[in-house]
Amino acid sequence: MAELLIIGSERSEAGIPAAMEILRRGGSALEAVERGLILCEDNLADHYVGTGGLPNARGEVELDASIMVGSSRAFGAVGAVKNFPNPISIARAVMEKLPQHALLVGQGAEDFADSVGFKRAELLTPEAKELWLQQLRDVPVQSIEGENTKAMTGDVRYRLAAIELVKKFAPHEGPWGTINIIARDRSGEIVCGVSTSGYPYKHPGRVGDSSIPGAGNYADSRYGAAACTGRGELSLRGGTARTVVENMRHGMSAEDACFEALKDARNLPDDFRAELRCLAITADGHHGGAAGMEGSTYTLMTESSTQPEFRPRKALL
Ligand code: ASP
Repeated sequence: MAELLIIGSERSEAGIPAAMEILRRGGSALEAVERGLILCEDNLADHYVGTGGLPNARGEVELDASIMVGSSRAFGAVGAVKNFPNPISIARAVMEKLPQHALLVGQGAEDFADSVGFKRAELLTPEAKELWLQQLRDVPVQSIEGENTKAMTGDVRYRLAAIELVKKFAPHEGPWGTINIIARDRSGEIVCGVSTSGYPYKHPGRVGDSSIPGAGNYADSRYGAAACTGRGELSLRGGTARTVVENMRHGMSAEDACFEALKDARNLPDDFRAELRCLAITADGHHGGAAGMEGSTYTLMTESSTQPEFRPRKALL
């Protein structure tokens, strides 16, 4: 029988203890990952996932999520979903109730969520709205003050400023980003789940790596599973989660596999570069993580843990 194990990204500790409880009671990794992420999505203090997530450039909260089962590589995902607080559950429902598809986005995903009975809810909390406005006020607008923009009409300049905001917005200090949870259950099944409200001020309709297999999420029970947080456009282009799993397949430790995959993504040209982080477990239950900056950690619970422990990720400098 396999040793129970759960790892998660920063702030996953809001959900990991309950997820471990499910595994201890003999529940599946799938159930544990979904439950853990629901608790993170419902954590109003977390502004990068679920209810309370920061909105896009139009002020609407749009959520991405996915779930992948290692033994079958079954995958379900949603992207750019509005008005539903638990996209991880819709992603699971896509995987289980709509097996002819793997990914639904926007209105179609919302129609599907209605059809399977998920409840709609307001996702923009007053606190998230205030934070969004505050950050908007703080963004310098000098970049549109050049001579060549002076003659433009107000609405054209406004559009220019909005584009500048999307391009130049830098997230505030402190832990931020998507939540990843990877669990291994008693049978050795490995499941990886990812949930996010994505980049604040993103273009409406933008879907990041969290919904895409091989980019932000990948699980293959033969070798392990990996997930990413941070600049999704880089892990989309680098196929980063899949690269981590491939690296483990070729014998690398979880930490080295993450480190090498990040190094590969770092070599991609990118005018909007921001940090990328990943974490992974191997099929035999070893774990590790890497990040583009110092000081990043991941959360861990094993069968004997009484509370979440925090482990450093190897920094790519
Ligand atoms: N990876 C997420 C995305 O690109 C953002 C994040 O983790 O901060 O949507």
